Amino acid sequence: MAAETLGEPRDRKPSLQGSIEAFQDVVSSAVIIPKEDGVISHNKPFLFFVFLKHIFPNLSTCMSFNPETRRLSIGMDTGSICEFILSEDYNKMTPTNTYQAHQGKVSVVLFVLEMEWLLSTGQDKSFTWHCSESGQQLGTHRTSSWVSGLQFDVETRHAFVGDQSGQVTILKLEQDSCSLVTTFKGHTGNVTALCWDPVQRVLFSGSSDHSIIMWDIGGRKGTAIELQGHSEKIEGLCYASHTRQLISCSSDGSIVVWNMDVTRQETPEWLDSDSCQKCEQPFFWNFKQMWDSKKIGLRQHHCRKCGQAVCGKCSSKRSAIPLMGFEFEVRVCDSCYGSITEEDRAPTATFHNSKHNIVYMHYEPTTGCLLTSGTDKVIKLWDMTAVVS
Ligand SMILES: [Zn+2]
Ligand SMILES: [Zn+2]
Repeated sequence: MAAETLGEPRDRKPSLQGSIEAFQDVVSSAVIIPKEDGVISHNKPFLFFVFLKHIFPNLSTCMSFNPETRRLSIGMDTGSICEFILSEDYNKMTPTNTYQAHQGKVSVVLFVLEMEWLLSTGQDKSFTWHCSESGQQLGTHRTSSWVSGLQFDVETRHAFVGDQSGQVTILKLEQDSCSLVTTFKGHTGNVTALCWDPVQRVLFSGSSDHSIIMWDIGGRKGTAIELQGHSEKIEGLCYASHTRQLISCSSDGSIVVWNMDVTRQETPEWLDSDSCQKCEQPFFWNFKQMWDSKKIGLRQHHCRKCGQAVCGKCSSKRSAIPLMGFEFEVRVCDSCYGSITEEDRAPTATFHNSKHNIVYMHYEPTTGCLLTSGTDKVIKLWDMTAVVS
């Protein structure tokens, strides 16, 4: 596609290719079938395909689809995972395996073709992995909380497990054992989505606290960059490695495409101070100093750029700081405000309105198609080629 037909970058938008409105309930997960005009989705109480229907005796809770092998792994509320191979024309599904993986509802399932491993997490607070050839369980690990995000790095065999406490756990998996590498916590809410880029060795985590954090795991710097561009819970993350763009979706209905080629700075640690670090007025809980100097205390705020504790009077201005991940206007102190140029304020992400409250997303890089599922029980398919380019 010639660049000039696309117009100015800021005018480019995802175009709605179609929507599917035949559902009786909200579709909590769905995938785009590459090379086919098809979508596989599951919703209560049966699995619904564009091409076929399959009735299950139990509720399906999550799924993983591998396009190369057409293997579909479906987690159930009973704790088992049912596996099927879809026929080439997607009109038939043949059951291959059933795994008794968990004691409660399966929360995430992930099939890793390279290892022939089926990774899963459940409401029983366990992480397990099975050999998809033999059907044998290879190992299990207790998680501290209910898991909502799971990613795997094939090359180094590390699993990333994001949970409801906001923590991300890194596990190193062997054929039949695993070791805890580290845990890290940056969110104040649940981890709702994880996305791993094996090329840059970067992990993205999305949370109910509205923020996304980019963790430089394998990188040289070990930085954690915060991305603030949504006003509600993050529902999905996907990294387009060929263009180095991150796509994020939120229950506020927004789709944000982040340019990850720009170098962003880490947000500063918030400094603790009893008084404004600009005008030295004491904050209101500093009773002794207030009494001594007979000043009325002020409320403590923090400048998002320098991290200093400042009073409202010394931080009256607001600015977007895209290079620190703040696409929205945030509190900055007056001296930092003066140092932020118009150029610094240029957005590093584009914002699009899906016009439904997104609960799930899936991006298919080969076609440039993005699927969003909403609380309106509709699946929308977006052509992202004008934006992710
Ligand atoms: Zn002040
Ligand atoms: Zn400042």
